Amino acid sequence: MTQHKNITAKITLLGAGPGDPELLTLKGVKALQNADVVLYDALTNEALLEYAPAEAIKVYVGKRSGEHSYPQDTINKLMIDYALNYGHVVRLKGGDPFVFGRGYEELDYATSYNIPVDVIPGISSSIGVPGLQQIPVTHRGLSESFWVITGTTTSGEVSKDIYQAAQSSATVLILMGLKKLAKIVEIFKEAGKLNLPVAVVQNGSSADEKLVVGTVETIESLVQLELIKAPALLIFGEVVSLHPSFKKLVKQYASIA
Ligand code: SAH
Repeated sequence: MTQHKNITAKITLLGAGPGDPELLTLKGVKALQNADVVLYDALTNEALLEYAPAEAIKVYVGKRSGEHSYPQDTINKLMIDYALNYGHVVRLKGGDPFVFGRGYEELDYATSYNIPVDVIPGISSSIGVPGLQQIPVTHRGLSESFWVITGTTTSGEVSKDIYQAAQSSATVLILMGLKKLAKIVEIFKEAGKLNLPVAVVQNGSSADEKLVVGTVETIESLVQLELIKAPALLIFGEVVSLHPSFKKLVKQYASIA
């Protein structure tokens, strides 16, 4: 791949936030306004493309579940090709680029072509989605730390870290975990956490947002009942008890007992 004359290749890895387009940073808006090309993912809101100039090239490189049309390798190559031929490529990624976003792989690849990369962090769904539900990831007296874990590793298994996290008193935020909910629930049960509060949020900050709140014991049936779909965030921890619907739930149980 050769550099075209009068083109200054540059890449911005931009975190789009969890879905609501207004959750993009001001720096992100400015980067989009200066884009020659935008490469965007499935979990980014297409409304953000309106910030880019009308003449900018906009390319969808998403990987919706079940589709494998854009392997990471192809995305890396496209990104370089566009940067060398058109200039400023904004690589728009869901949430934060470095939280299970493969952002560093893209940074590394661009650097190997001596193309400068800027990183603009985004609001990660792992913290932003609970926050929007008014569930704090830490809270004095309830949770001293939080753990952000993937439910699906490259080998397709749940992360081993979940076993350790389930033993701790940390808030446990699991991404890409919905399909593994049964296994994850089993891990928390084995850790003796049957009554630990759990929330599952589908499409946080978007029009089709859905929330279910329960406990380790009840969450699987609630998720089935409410037909919760990906993308969803699993929140395990005492902090979930601060959510108004958990308080209602406790009252309901108390009145039955
Ligand atoms: N870089 C992203 C995460 C990419 S992995 C970030 O920082 O948010 C994709 C997973 O993130 C999804 O499977 C889901 O578990 C979670 N996720 C992303 N957006 C979400 C949203 N709006 N609501 C709930 N979960 C979300």
